[in-house]
Amino acid sequence: MGGREVLPANKILTIPSYRKLARSYHPDVNKEPGAEQKFKDISNAYEVLQDDEKRSIYDRYGEAGLKGASGPGDFTNPFDLFESIFDLGGMGMGGGSRASRNRATEGEDQAYNLVLNFKEAIFGIEKDIDVSRLETCGTCNGSGAKPGTQATKCSTCGGQGQVISAARTPLGVFQQVSTCSACGGTGEISTPCNTCNGEGRVRKSKRISLKVPAGVDAGSRLRVRGEGNSGRRGGPPGDLFVVIDVIPDPVLKRDDTNILYSCKVSYIDAILGTTVKVPTVDGTVDLKIPAGTQPGTTLVMAKKGVPMLNKPNIRGDQMVRVQVEIPKRLSDDEKKLVEELADLNKAKAPNSKRQPA
Ligand SMILES: [Zn+2]
Ligand SMILES: [Zn+2]
Repeated sequence: MGGREVLPANKILTIPSYRKLARSYHPDVNKEPGAEQKFKDISNAYEVLQDDEKRSIYDRYGEAGLKGASGPGDFTNPFDLFESIFDLGGMGMGGGSRASRNRATEGEDQAYNLVLNFKEAIFGIEKDIDVSRLETCGTCNGSGAKPGTQATKCSTCGGQGQVISAARTPLGVFQQVSTCSACGGTGEISTPCNTCNGEGRVRKSKRISLKVPAGVDAGSRLRVRGEGNSGRRGGPPGDLFVVIDVIPDPVLKRDDTNILYSCKVSYIDAILGTTVKVPTVDGTVDLKIPAGTQPGTTLVMAKKGVPMLNKPNIRGDQMVRVQVEIPKRLSDDEKKLVEELADLNKAKAPNSKRQPA
């Protein structure tokens, strides 16, 4: 028992699928009495094949092919074995890079980090960025085959793209279909293109004109459709994701669509009122500090904030927090005047707060 050979798919007429058999007796599926015992029997029979199977995987995919499969003698639990049987099909596709190279697959998405200064993020900007990505090889038009060469029929699978492993066991002959690793399932063997080493894609830098809309912020992601890696073998391209980072402004802080700023005024200016120059994203603007402004007051400069993303006509505000500075030291003259003020205040309204001017 346990004899094993690899046969081209076209040499096999009937394929009694072991996996189908195992599935039909799995206790999750089959509630009939005796099904569980039958499933165990099938599983045990599979164990007989196990060493050959492992050798075959190793031959086809190397050490990596065995990763994820259970080690020798691990199949004491038939339910674990069941999982491993179903994993085998997937291993053929994922384990061999040739197999995935030959299928038409969508290109990968690419990320690009774009650093903007404070105002660029607020008002938007058009920028040319150079993106490194995989593009369809122009030499072979993405086929991966050297131009002028003819693809020949794969001798391993006889051009079928699949190989069938067969093994004799006490329960009969079990066979399994897997993708041919020699040709990656295409059934053909071709001379690899010199430019791309048969990958069908080459790394290139492309300049992309990017329109960054007003109102983006650090962490915003812009999706540029179709500007990721080219697809393989005619597959569609992936997308480019531009991830925005923003250099902070030394004095203006951003809070969503509002700008926060804090200004200092002297206690005299707070009492008498004044006009201060305030930096905004539109440039320096005069702001009136009304007489009697209290420390910590927030003055609102309407529509001096950030345009709303995708609604640039709506703008936030700039919020100006007024810090009133009390001098720590006064000159003799100043002290005299403040003392006079204190006397005046006492006489005018004892035990009460200063009245607004
Ligand atoms: Zn090429
Ligand atoms: Zn083949």
